[in-house]
Amino acid sequence: MATTTTTNGTGPAVNGAAYPITDHTFDVVVVGAGGAGLRATVGCSQAGLRTACITKVFPTRSHTVAAQGGISAALGNMGQDDWRWHMYDTVKGSDWLGDQDAIEYLCRNAPAAVYELEHWGVPFSRTVEGKIYQRPFGGMTTEYGKGTAQRTCAAADRTGHAILHTLYGQAVRNQTNFFIEYFAIDLIMDEDGRCRGVVALNMSDGSIHRFRSHMTILATGGYGRAYFSATSAHTCTGDGNAMVLRAGLPLQDMEFVQFHPTGIYGAGCLITEGARGEGGYLTNSEGERFMERYAPSAKDLASRDVVSRAMTMEIRAGRGVGKNNDHIYLHLDHLDPKILHERLPGISESAKIFAGVEVTKEPIPVLPTVHYNMGGIPTNYHGEVLTLKNGNPDHVVPGLMALGEAACVSVHGANRLGSNSLIDLVVFGRAAGQRCAEVVTAGERHAELPKDSADLALSRLDRFRNAAGSTTTAQLRLDMQRTMQNNCAVFRTGEVLEEGRKLIDGVWRGTADIRTTDRSLIWNTDLIEAMEFDNLITQAVVTMNSAANRTESRGAHAREDYAERNDKDWMKHTLAWIDETKYEVNIDYRPVHTYTMSNEIEYIAPKARVY
Ligand SMILES: Cc1cc2nc3c(=O)[nH]c(=O)nc-3n(C[C@H](O)[C@H](O)[C@H](O)COP(=O)(O)OP(=O)(O)OC[C@H]3O[C@@H](n4cnc5c(N)ncnc54)[C@H](O)[C@@H]3O)c2cc1C
Repeated sequence: MATTTTTNGTGPAVNGAAYPITDHTFDVVVVGAGGAGLRATVGCSQAGLRTACITKVFPTRSHTVAAQGGISAALGNMGQDDWRWHMYDTVKGSDWLGDQDAIEYLCRNAPAAVYELEHWGVPFSRTVEGKIYQRPFGGMTTEYGKGTAQRTCAAADRTGHAILHTLYGQAVRNQTNFFIEYFAIDLIMDEDGRCRGVVALNMSDGSIHRFRSHMTILATGGYGRAYFSATSAHTCTGDGNAMVLRAGLPLQDMEFVQFHPTGIYGAGCLITEGARGEGGYLTNSEGERFMERYAPSAKDLASRDVVSRAMTMEIRAGRGVGKNNDHIYLHLDHLDPKILHERLPGISESAKIFAGVEVTKEPIPVLPTVHYNMGGIPTNYHGEVLTLKNGNPDHVVPGLMALGEAACVSVHGANRLGSNSLIDLVVFGRAAGQRCAEVVTAGERHAELPKDSADLALSRLDRFRNAAGSTTTAQLRLDMQRTMQNNCAVFRTGEVLEEGRKLIDGVWRGTADIRTTDRSLIWNTDLIEAMEFDNLITQAVVTMNSAANRTESRGAHAREDYAERNDKDWMKHTLAWIDETKYEVNIDYRPVHTYTMSNEIEYIAPKARVY
């Protein structure tokens, strides 16, 4: 059992208020208990490292629980398959912005990571021979684009639920120290740029906790809630990304925001791509299966950016369905009710609850909805955080890792393929555990913390707790979400983005005038929401600025004024920093890794966009 050293100290007086601090010392601290955080936690614990896992929600409530469709791996259970084909699809899906060494690492290691989950107890659906069931998903092909692959392993339409519960069980089995319903506020960075741990608030009693660690792993998920309509949970506020920005480090490729074609109209809840994998199709107001026009070969299973754009174009052309011609129909009513019941029970229920639709009889009203953030904290394929330093674009930030949707490895590049996120969580969660076993020595002494180690976190906490301005968090959040939805969505032009930049800058500056009313420290959701909004707004600003800056179309970033992909000038990652004191965003670049990890597969050169 890992041990915890707890001493009570007194924190610095901030605005006259002293916050007592409880200190903890670990080898590794993981922030986040979704698929990525739990997989890394299990790996680190198994390696004999004293590991803590801090999470603001109970582990099995992390957004990973909502993942429906499945997890990709070239197992070849339902027809021939090869990790090289998976790699080709992922590079192509990324629109050549993904780092090819990392993509090779992902696809090669995917089968082993899935078998490991199986052995740990994930109740995958089965084929008649008893093998793991695999379904087709958008963009997944065989023979380098020739056939349709069945590569997405599924536990009915509750794959994330099955994986998360299994991983939590494994973490408990391996004696992880959980700090549940603790809200991590900020990283502790020393003057050499090394991360030394994190400061968190125990939400139930208001106590402050300082975690010292040799390695801090951010697995805090995406920031979908910067938008008005999102499939992600309300907790997806990208807290780790914002901590990284405040630590003076960059975020990468934030302009690439994936819209899922089929969010339930109005509610935003997801209808998995697996629904189209099982034979579902989209129609417009004329009853036409319009995807046949936009993507003659992949049709309804073209990649998500293509389908989302096609739907938006149909709606813009006045062929949307419904009273306001503002959405599209997804048909499952032609499918065998037995199949629906067996393979898509969860979405049948969601459609009933959120759209009042009986899927066996009527189509589901759907609309493209924010679903995934390709951008995030730049890392290499060991999970180590990177920054640009002294001309080196791959400088490793000591003591800091990032995983999962918070990270940008970058395996998804400009667009993620469906079922490639769950596999990203477990492959890189596993890799991070292995890396920690190499670079961290269990029980090694910790150097003294910088004197001001908790100041940044406590002054932020104190500022929001006592904020006495005139605008509520809810108002600022709504302004941000509306601006992002209107000015930084599926279709983008220079003019719309420029307007968006001004509007979002206004909301950012408005943060100075924020008002909270609850001054207590016990379950202060007012305070937590203010800090989450503050985290979201910096990411919104960076997303808008990065989008305005990239004058080409690539993956999910489609500009009407620059309709073509421009490999000559833009086959590079965007890096964006913020300067909070000046409300400024600074942009630079990192080259895409156009080399592979081994010589078993050649670099996949850019091709024209034909779908
Ligand atoms: C509805 C839906 C369906 C999806 N379906 C699929 C699918 O079928 N296949 C696929 O591959 N992908 C799918 N995805 C994408 C995928 O599920 C997510 O990208 C992935 O689960 C993210 O996992 P994560 O571990 O990075 O973060 P999350 O699961 O979001 O977990 C984040 C963790 O960080 C913690 N945290 C955050 N901030 C703080 C803080 N300040 N302090 C302490 N803790 C904090 C939270 O408590 C939580 O434990 C889906 C996504 C959605 C929204």
